[in-house]
Amino acid sequence: MRIALYLTQKPSRGRTRGFALIELLAAFIIFSVLMAIAVPLYFSSMASAEREQCREQMQAIVNAEEEYKRKAANHAYTTTLANLNIGGAPIPPCPSGGSHTIDSTSPLRIKCSYHFGSADQHGTFTPNVDNY
Ligand SMILES: [Zn+2]
Repeated sequence: MRIALYLTQKPSRGRTRGFALIELLAAFIIFSVLMAIAVPLYFSSMASAEREQCREQMQAIVNAEEEYKRKAANHAYTTTLANLNIGGAPIPPCPSGGSHTIDSTSPLRIKCSYHFGSADQHGTFTPNVDNY
C-alpha cells in the first residue's frame, strides 16, 4: 500500500513515488522513542532550574536577615519577610509557586512550602551549611 505523498518527481517505470506506510510507521516510531527520552529530561531540567532559583532566593533572604540582625536594636532575626529589604525590591516568590518562611531558631533556616518535604530536601536552606 502506497500513501499518496508525492514529491515533485513524476512516477518512473510505472512505480509511484512516495512513502510506504511502513516507512511512515518507522519514522513515527523513531520520533516517539526520541520524544520519550527528551521530554522527561526537559521537565527534569526545568524542575532543577526552578529549585536552584529558589535556593538563590533563599540565600538572598539569608543575606537580608544578616543585614536586619546587624541593624536591629535587639540584634535578632525577624520572621517577617516584609521586614527584610533586598535591595529595595520585594522578595521574589518561589518560581514553582511556593512561599518562603523563616525559622529563626538557631540555626537560622529558610523553608520553601513547595520544595520543603521533597525527597531531596532542597526546600530547607541553612546558611553556612547549604550552598546553592
Ligand atoms: Zn521553592
